[in-house]
Amino acid sequence: MPWGNGRGPPSGRGGGRGGGFGQGPGGDCICPNCGHREPHQLGAPCYTRKCPKCGAPMTRA
Ligand SMILES: [Zn+2]
Repeated sequence: MPWGNGRGPPSGRGGGRGGGFGQGPGGDCICPNCGHREPHQLGAPCYTRKCPKCGAPMTRA
């Protein structure tokens, strides 16, 4: 699997209930500037992504 961030797969956290990111699986990223939302992708934190509409850094919804 493409765990290209050097952290390995997200195991050992979350008590064995999916995700393991601490904020729940399957969330959205949201642009604080224009409100654009899109699905959060594992391995790509929202703040590393930019809004496709306005270019602002996105945040966790
Ligand atoms: Zn935006």
